[in-house]
Amino acid sequence: MLLESRVKEQGSILARLGEVCTDPLGYAREWKARTGGLVVGSFPMNFPSEMAHAAGALPLIIQEAEDPITAGHGLLFPFYCGYTRSTVDQAANGELDVLDAIMFGDHCVQLLGAADAVRMSLKNTRVIFFQLISSMCDPWTLGRAKESFEKLREELEDFLGRKVEDDALRESIRLFNRDRQAMRKLYEMRVAGQISLTATEMQYVVKSAMVMDRREHLELVEALVAGATENSPAPEKRAIRLHLSGHFCQAPKPELLDMIEGCGAVVVGDDLYHGFRYISTDVGENGDPMEALAHWYLDRNTGVPCPTRVQNDVDWDAFLLDAMRKENAEGMIVLMAKFCEPHMYYYPEVKEAFEKAGMPHLLIETEHESMALEHIRTRVESFLELVKRRRGAAPVVTSAAQGEVA
Ligand code: SF4
Repeated sequence: MLLESRVKEQGSILARLGEVCTDPLGYAREWKARTGGLVVGSFPMNFPSEMAHAAGALPLIIQEAEDPITAGHGLLFPFYCGYTRSTVDQAANGELDVLDAIMFGDHCVQLLGAADAVRMSLKNTRVIFFQLISSMCDPWTLGRAKESFEKLREELEDFLGRKVEDDALRESIRLFNRDRQAMRKLYEMRVAGQISLTATEMQYVVKSAMVMDRREHLELVEALVAGATENSPAPEKRAIRLHLSGHFCQAPKPELLDMIEGCGAVVVGDDLYHGFRYISTDVGENGDPMEALAHWYLDRNTGVPCPTRVQNDVDWDAFLLDAMRKENAEGMIVLMAKFCEPHMYYYPEVKEAFEKAGMPHLLIETEHESMALEHIRTRVESFLELVKRRRGAAPVVTSAAQGEVA
């Protein structure tokens, strides 16, 4: 294929993925009308979508909406995070009616509150709750995780009125693994400078996987990988290489990501849920698929540690420093969703570790409603200036600089 038409094809793939990300429920409605299938929603971050897929349904991870909160105001405290408030608002406004069932796995107190409010609003939607063990390194953790997934499978089968067969589950696992591998390939190419996907485009790639039919998604991502190997322009060499961290259940707003890169940075890695965290770990393809899913649940937390889980032998801060070394990243921007308790509790440890290592980082608190982008831009510009000055200097951050950036 000619270079020009390759570039065009890549542009239209990214535009398609972006469209799905902008209107995930619209995609679900269209899919339902096209296939007549059922749509099973889930909350982030630990639901094994493979299970709903194996049952013939479209698994969809419920996304934060752009809209301001209206009807949901009366159902949840204003000091809940934007993701939970937005989800409850979408339920109260009838937007989640397209979902035939919702799977809730607990991972924080706010999510539990949101689950009750959603249940109250969606009287005709089957709500399936499952409890996943949050202590990750006890002798009984694996067994408990397997039990939870088995319970989830039983509830799904009861809801659908048919069995989720092991073979179908293995096939879905293989498909999801292939899709994760294709997305990780894009990450590898980005870190090696072989592709210049912006942070927003990378988010489109990953977020759309949480919504789309997997086979359709895989085709698009594999075409993106194939095209990128031939013609991607190299990223700007002088741009400051950044790692983005944090933001669990909701995707950071594209305008924020664009602004950060527009200030002279290039994002080379991340541990965002709408990023590497979501695709970091594959599920074993042989043997008992339920056992494999239970292992996946444990392995993910070693691959990319999560502050909503408890595990004595892994450290998120150590993981971040190591990831940055591998990515050759010069600084890290931490995106913290306002009122996200697990992140707020853990952040001091990250801050301390980064200061000790002399690695610059900047904390940005994000909000559902509105963000003073111009104010944040000034902070990002100062931070990047500081990182630029460190180039070639010993990796030591002065106390004045620490105050400025952290
Ligand atoms: S982990 Fe954070 S972002 Fe996710 S639901 Fe809980 S408080 Fe909200």
